[in-house]
Amino acid sequence: MQCHHPTWHEMKKEVGPTMTVSQLAKSIAESPTLKLNEEARLLREKGEAVVHLGAGEPKNKAPIAAILSSAAKLNTGDIKYTPTDGIPSLKKAIIKYTEENYDRVVAPENIIISGGAKQSVFNVLYSIINPQDEVIILAPYWVSYPEMVKMVYGVPVIVRPEDGSFYPRMEDILKAVSSYTKAIIVNSPNNPSGVMYPEQFIAEIVEYCEKKGIFVIMDDIYHKLVFDGKVWPSPYKFTKKDVESTHVIVINGVSKLYGMTGFRIGWAISNRNLVTIMSNVQGQITSCTSVILQAAAEGALTGLQSAIESLRLTLENNRNVMMQELNSFNGVKTVKPDGTYYCLPDFRAYSNDSVKLSELLLKKALVVAVPGKEFGMEGHLRLSYAGSIKDITEGVARIKWALDPSSPNEIYIGDRKLVRDWL
Ligand code: PMP
Repeated sequence: MQCHHPTWHEMKKEVGPTMTVSQLAKSIAESPTLKLNEEARLLREKGEAVVHLGAGEPKNKAPIAAILSSAAKLNTGDIKYTPTDGIPSLKKAIIKYTEENYDRVVAPENIIISGGAKQSVFNVLYSIINPQDEVIILAPYWVSYPEMVKMVYGVPVIVRPEDGSFYPRMEDILKAVSSYTKAIIVNSPNNPSGVMYPEQFIAEIVEYCEKKGIFVIMDDIYHKLVFDGKVWPSPYKFTKKDVESTHVIVINGVSKLYGMTGFRIGWAISNRNLVTIMSNVQGQITSCTSVILQAAAEGALTGLQSAIESLRLTLENNRNVMMQELNSFNGVKTVKPDGTYYCLPDFRAYSNDSVKLSELLLKKALVVAVPGKEFGMEGHLRLSYAGSIKDITEGVARIKWALDPSSPNEIYIGDRKLVRDWL
């Protein structure tokens, strides 16, 4: 008997309705920032003059030391698995970095290198959370935190600043703590608001959590991109415990500091036991990060550090331009960022629905702005100043044109004249 191999279409028809995905996977939201990146990319591919104020990456080239180091590794042709937790020479560079920037001496066994700080945060959560454990997240927050907590069957508990500012209060954190609280995630300087929390606030969180045995996951991915001469404090400063006994877990990486987002290297620093557990977890999922990319990160960390200062200066200047442009925008309220790539202006004078607002801006004005709702701050838009000055001035001009009736109702986008007919 001749058997009939089903065509792809037949197969799809067969499995389509019966094929089910897990409740958990279904509940995880698509990353809104990555989605907007993709929409912008598709529009640009069609030749549309999109201004991308959604970007979480700067325009700089990777530091030459990173390129040379990875190229040298590639040239050996000896590209194999590495130890799960990372190559010793990159660990050595991270130890030096930690000593210089955190004033802490850690051992190689306290470090695990992962596929970006994103995987580092996930590894930590996966390794400490039991089902129903709670993780406190401070709003506004990075979009991935609540989804990651859900992915490990934990419960995200959002603490919002009651006064609508970007500074959560210690008393609100205390109110959110329960017997299920396992960890708090702190990201300062903060994506999306750009603010850096006061040193006293970090001190209080660390002291309180050390006493209660709650993990403090410090996402320090923007820690050197700070403006106006302000100083970012090392979280270890506020604990007398050593790295083996502290509940402070440090997350960092090369993506933001060196503009090396595509290299996908981040790390976590914690006690040996937790690092071993995280290595077991990572070993079953991705084995290790690529040796070529680890070599690049090592090059960045051990090479000339001027790339960071040059990026920091560019960002500070861009931030100033962004603030100047937004401050002349009727009704838009801003909080001046202390660092990062972002600001989170309040657009409630124009709309309380940031998702609709973001859609309108992309459709009518070809500007990408990320809805504040995704970061737990409805009515705001996250605007990135990591691009060029032209992106910033042109982007804000287009937003003004789209929203502010007192702005001229005609605008040129490329060589196309657009007329506003919806206000
Ligand atoms: N944490 C924060 C607060 C971030 O903004 C980002 C990147 N958008 C990450 C972590 C992830 O960085 P990486 O590229 O190292 O995964």
